[in-house]
Amino acid sequence: MKRDTKLIHAGRAKQYTGKVVNPPLVRASTIVFDSFAELKHATLNRGNRVPFYGRRGTDTHFALQQAICEVEGGAGCALYPCGAAAISGALLAFLQSGDHLLMVDSAYEPTRALCDKLLTGLGIETTYYDPQIGAAIAGLIKPNTKVIFLESPGSLTFEMQDIPAITAVAKQHNIVTILDNTWASPILCQPFTLGVDVSVQSATKYIVGHSDVMLGTASANEKHWPQLREHSYLLGYCASADDAYTALRGLRTLSVRLKQHEQSALSVANWLSQRPEVATVLHPALPGHPGHAIFKRDFSGSNGLFSFVLKQGSQQQVEAFIEGMAHFKMGFSWGGYESLITATMKVQNLRTATTWPYSGPLIRLHIGLEDVEDLLADLSAAFVRFHQAELTSYDDSQR
Ligand SMILES: *Cc1c(COP(=O)(O)O)cnc(C)c1O
Repeated sequence: MKRDTKLIHAGRAKQYTGKVVNPPLVRASTIVFDSFAELKHATLNRGNRVPFYGRRGTDTHFALQQAICEVEGGAGCALYPCGAAAISGALLAFLQSGDHLLMVDSAYEPTRALCDKLLTGLGIETTYYDPQIGAAIAGLIKPNTKVIFLESPGSLTFEMQDIPAITAVAKQHNIVTILDNTWASPILCQPFTLGVDVSVQSATKYIVGHSDVMLGTASANEKHWPQLREHSYLLGYCASADDAYTALRGLRTLSVRLKQHEQSALSVANWLSQRPEVATVLHPALPGHPGHAIFKRDFSGSNGLFSFVLKQGSQQQVEAFIEGMAHFKMGFSWGGYESLITATMKVQNLRTATTWPYSGPLIRLHIGLEDVEDLLADLSAAFVRFHQAELTSYDDSQR
């Protein structure tokens, strides 16, 4: 079955759908049993999508878990109230006091904050590593290294990681690899074929796809699923049935949405790379990107999220650029149908293992499903405001 067909069938087994098209929304805390034998069966099989207790999920959750496994390739999938919970749940499932974690330097900023502010207090030491380290990660492994965490591409700066090179080293040392696969969604990268043990999704982004739900998933291969499932359950992680239902609905159109996001984002990225104000466009599908060869090897496509770096620009100019857009809304949680814009003045402040090579401000765009001509007109006007702000600040300095 081809990928797009799989997205239509995923999680829609007769046992879930009965006589309707979509797996129904089943909300529950208590599961009631008809007999002691049934109760006993549920108790013994609670890892096998048999209803047991609300926190373990209902058929709506099971249908989504099954669907994510079918499209992303894991042996099992745990649900979380958001992507950040999926990250903490996956890390805490495999780390304990005294352990060492290798964390990619380009990680999503709240992931870094979790390591620095919470894992440290639990006695878990983090070493940040260069996203482009590849097999040389072997040099950073200590006797107590238990997890290597990857995110590729980095969702602000878009460095590509050599996932198979890193997972091969991890396997030699019996280290668990966890990948934040949110940028790829479950369909643009198949992490388990690249040797990853646990793949995390912020389903809040492209899976739900409409900017109205917080949800996370962590999927694992056969070997790591039992521990991920049990530890996440012990920590009390679960998600609402309504949100699981919304994610199932989002999955059906994921591929068509992504194709449009990809095509429009590439048009905007190419347009930006011609602008004299732009130092570089950080988009791995562009042939000039340093991670392009890895991207071509490991990914089947790109999406709507990328960044570009300006040659220079004051805070005032950046403000003038990103305020007053007609279509790009200012906000962070990308993956919906709408275009978004954010800016980071000093990327180096988010780095400890690597030196960020650009001095100008970084602007991140999420290209939504609007007509690309309207988006380009919006960006053209932003560059006009950017230059006007430079003149204003020059005038101010003369006064
Ligand atoms: C948004 C995001 C998260 C966190 O997901 P939430 O659902 O917002 O908690 C984690 N990783 C990446 C790469 C993200 O973009």
